[in-house]
Amino acid sequence: MTNVGSNLSFKQDKHCPFCKIVRKEAFAKILYNDSDILAFEDINPQAPYHILVIPKKHIASFLEISSQDTELVGKIHQVIKKIAKEKNFKRGFRVVVNCGPDAGQSIDHLHFHLLAGREFDWPPG
Ligand code: AMP
Ligand code: ZN
Repeated sequence: MTNVGSNLSFKQDKHCPFCKIVRKEAFAKILYNDSDILAFEDINPQAPYHILVIPKKHIASFLEISSQDTELVGKIHQVIKKIAKEKNFKRGFRVVVNCGPDAGQSIDHLHFHLLAGREFDWPPG
């Protein structure tokens, strides 16, 4: 784990695909951007709206959220709410965090899926 961002003050991982998006080394369709948080369209959408909301800081998974990240994680939820309101998800939406292999986590950088635009099953698959 290295802090590779020359002008980034938070922890980054050199090879992490989402850190690369944060550093603008990889393309993403950005929907929200502030000093701590980024939201962008999922490259393989599972619903008409499929947005990923991430901390710019590299946190490998939900299990790696520390007590120091409490405010950051709270702010992520406010960003999710802001996007949901702006996009007018009147009929509802789903927020998902996959953690670990059983849940199908494929990118080791904490991300919140925001899904909307269709009905979702419960229990999930
Ligand atoms: P998960 O399986 O919960 O780890 O979710 C990872 C998500 O990241 C998947 O929905 C992928 O489609 C998405 N994804 C992977 N690479 C990219 C990328 N470069 N840009 C946007 N979304 C991506
Ligand atoms: Zn990362």
